[in-house]
Amino acid sequence: MAAKRDYYEILGVPRNASTEEIKRAYRRLARQYHPDVNKDPEAEERFKEINEAYEVLSDPEKRAQYDRFGHVGRENIPGGEGFGGFGGFGGFGGVGDAWTDVFEQFFGYGFGGRSRRAPERGEDLQVDVTIDFEEAVFGTEKTLEIPRWEPCPRCGGTGAEPGTRPITCPQCGGTGEVQQVRQTFIGRFVTVSTCPRCHGEGIIIPTPCRECGGRKVVRRTRKVVVHIPPGVDEGTLVRLTGEGELGRNGGPPGDLYVRVHVRPHPLFKRQDRDLVLELPINVAQAALGDEIEVPTIDGTPVKLTIPAGTQPGKTFRLRGYGVPDVHNPKRRGDLLVTVRVVIPQKLTPEQRELFKKLGETLGKTPTPDERNFLEKMLDALGEAFKAS
Ligand SMILES: [Zn+2]
Ligand SMILES: [Zn+2]
Repeated sequence: MAAKRDYYEILGVPRNASTEEIKRAYRRLARQYHPDVNKDPEAEERFKEINEAYEVLSDPEKRAQYDRFGHVGRENIPGGEGFGGFGGFGGFGGVGDAWTDVFEQFFGYGFGGRSRRAPERGEDLQVDVTIDFEEAVFGTEKTLEIPRWEPCPRCGGTGAEPGTRPITCPQCGGTGEVQQVRQTFIGRFVTVSTCPRCHGEGIIIPTPCRECGGRKVVRRTRKVVVHIPPGVDEGTLVRLTGEGELGRNGGPPGDLYVRVHVRPHPLFKRQDRDLVLELPINVAQAALGDEIEVPTIDGTPVKLTIPAGTQPGKTFRLRGYGVPDVHNPKRRGDLLVTVRVVIPQKLTPEQRELFKKLGETLGKTPTPDERNFLEKMLDALGEAFKAS
């Protein structure tokens, strides 16, 4: 490697130049020597040199070090690029990072457009999946067909029909931009806009690939297996990292979000991690008590003891028969069994006699504790008698 030129000399600025002056000089030179614009074989070297100089002189700390020590330490950089490391002085990070940053700056601010080469993360995708209530409680696995854009296999992602090549756009000369000069009475205006021929790509494809039509990508449907954990609820999003659209220019892929929808259950309703079940019992069961088999979401019925004198609307809690915590499946909610006392709507003559006798023995003045239940029951019985 030849002796290194002075950074101030490279940018053509005095040693006491302000940050603003350095920035202006850098932009002017970068445009002039950008390899896409300047086809001179030496332009690329110059461009790197300019970036290296700017990388140091635009950073007050690195500039101060450079002012004191010059190029010391820069010659033993791996790869011999002379760019991207600062030897013993703490470094600038990897070559790739520095290069990307420069490009971002260059295109982002200098040309007013987005870099064509900067890595871009792929877009996230979202799909909906509907599962059964039991699947939401216990978890499930679904195979989904997810369409996404992938590099065209025929042209290898170049967009050009195999055997042909993309060419530099003749309208913009590969810069991706066109300048328009307008002369007005107050002066000359130069407007820069995206090249209409190549849409800013700088290249055009004379013979587009037959499979992708020159788009470089094709829509492909992939099978993706999604594990839906126990305890998900309506609207839960399950994320599959990296299963979204592919990144551009070496950027990482996006993520795939699966939005879960849950079909309702004929018996059970959900309240957070608890399940709610309405259990119909008859008047005698409520008054005398009973042992009842209660269905559970697990599929095996559980015995529930209804004590004598159970009031309508009374709720019993069966611990551990609810929905698992989506973050900790060992923690399960409960099953809340709410008793609904069903009053018979039709009575046989025999039942009617028995209720009549019952009514006489109960009398008209129940204890305050019993009042609520008995009033409801007698009202309902009255209705039943009228109906029969
Ligand atoms: Zn063009
Ligand atoms: Zn293709």
